[in-house]
Amino acid sequence: MKAIVIGGGIGGMSTAIALEKAGYETAVYEAVKEIKPVGAAISIWPNGVKCLNALGMKEALRALGGNMAYMAYNDFASGTTLTRFSMSPLVQQVGEYPYPVARAELQAMLIDTYGRTRINFGKRVIQVEQSENGVIATFDDNSQVSGDFLIAADGTHSVIRQYVVEQAPERRYAGYVNWNGLVEIDESIAPADQWTTFVGEGKRVSLMPVSGNRFYFFFDVPLPKGLPEDRTTLKDDLRGYFSGWAEPVQKLIATINPETTNRVEIHDIEPFSSFVKGRVALLGDAAHSTTPDIGQGGCAAMEDAIVLASTLASHSLGIEDALLRYQSRRVERVKDLVLKARKRCDVTHGKDPVVTAEWYQSLKKETGERVLAGMCETIEGGPLG
Ligand code: FAD
Repeated sequence: MKAIVIGGGIGGMSTAIALEKAGYETAVYEAVKEIKPVGAAISIWPNGVKCLNALGMKEALRALGGNMAYMAYNDFASGTTLTRFSMSPLVQQVGEYPYPVARAELQAMLIDTYGRTRINFGKRVIQVEQSENGVIATFDDNSQVSGDFLIAADGTHSVIRQYVVEQAPERRYAGYVNWNGLVEIDESIAPADQWTTFVGEGKRVSLMPVSGNRFYFFFDVPLPKGLPEDRTTLKDDLRGYFSGWAEPVQKLIATINPETTNRVEIHDIEPFSSFVKGRVALLGDAAHSTTPDIGQGGCAAMEDAIVLASTLASHSLGIEDALLRYQSRRVERVKDLVLKARKRCDVTHGKDPVVTAEWYQSLKKETGERVLAGMCETIEGGPLG
C-alpha cells in the first residue's frame, strides 16, 4: 500500500514517519525547494511531545527543547509580576514536559528522521483525482504520481481542501498581528527558565526559552488586516505600539533583529467536519486551522498523524473505511482546540474590553491551579492521554 503525502511541514512529515512505522510505503511531495517555516519557534505541549516520542524522536526533541520550568504574567506598564507559578504540577499530572523549540530545528529533526533525500521538493500539487483503486496527483510541472491513498497536509492555504470539502469555509482574520523571532537570553528581560508574558491594552509580549540560550519572543497587537509590512520601520512601529510599556519590553524591542523577525496576520478557519473524500484525507492545518493562542495547531497535526496511522494499521474494511474512521476520531477533538484557541484569543486581545480587564484582574489572584488545570484538560484530550 502506497500513501502519497502532500506537504513536508509538521503534519506531512509526522504522517509520513507514522505511516512507515505502520508498514505503509510513503512518498512526500513538498511545493517549495527549501522549507522556511512562518514562525521562529513553537511550543510543543505534552500531547504533541507524546506523539513525537511515539514516532521515535524522544531524545532528539529533548535536545531541542527549552527549560520552561515556570510561567508568569507581568503587568505591561510596571513590569511587576501578576502571577508566577511552577509548571511541575502539569508535568506530574500529564507525565511529560512541554518543549518550546526553534521551528527550523523541529523541521530538520522531522525531515532527517524520515530521510531528507527521500523528499520530493519543488513539487506543487495542483490537482487530485481518484478511482476505485487509487489516487493520482498532478503537479504544476505537469508530472503525475499515483498511490493507493493521499494525505493532504498542504497547510492552511490547502488547495486539496477545495477538492475534499465542497464549500470549504474561508480563512477568518482573528484581529491581531503577531511578530516573532529569536534572541539571545538576557535575564534582565526575563528569567531564563520561565515563560514570561507581559499583558495590557489587549496586547501581549511573550518570551519562552528554547535550546541554545535563546528566547523565542513574540509581540501581539490588535490591528486591521492588510497594513503594509516594513522591516525598516519595525522597531519604531513596535516602540509606538508598546509606548509606556515596562523597561524589559523596551529592551527586547531594542535587541531584536528586524531582518529575522516574522510578521503574521493571525487567522483561523471555522471548524468543519468533512476531512475525507474517498481515498483522500486532509490533515493538519489543511483540516483545521487555529489561532496560535493555546499553542496547539502543530500538536494537533502530530495527533492527526498518530491517529491516522493507528487507524490504518488496524483497518480490515478497506482504505476508505479507515479514513472515515480517522475523520470521526479527529473532528470533535480539533473543533474543540480551534474554538478554545479562538476564545483565548478574544480574551487576550481585547475583543470585549470588559472581559479582558476582568482577566487582567483575575491574574492577580491566580495561583496557577486554574491555568494549569485548563492546560492539562487540553493535553489529556489528545490520543495518547
Ligand atoms: P504547514 O506547516 O503550513 O505545512 C504545509 C506544507 O505544505 C508547507 O511546507 C507548504 O510549503 C506545503 N504545501 C502547501 N501547498 C502545497 C501544494 N499545493 N503542494 C505541495 N506542498 C504544498 N502550533 C503549536 O502546536 N504550538 C505553537 O506554539 C504554535 N505557535 C504558532 C505561532 C504562530 C505565529 C503561527 C502562525 C502558528 C503557530 N502554531 C503553533 C501552528 C502551527 O504552526 C501549525 O498548526 C502547523 O505548522 C501546521 O502544520 P502543517 O504541516 O499542517 O502545515
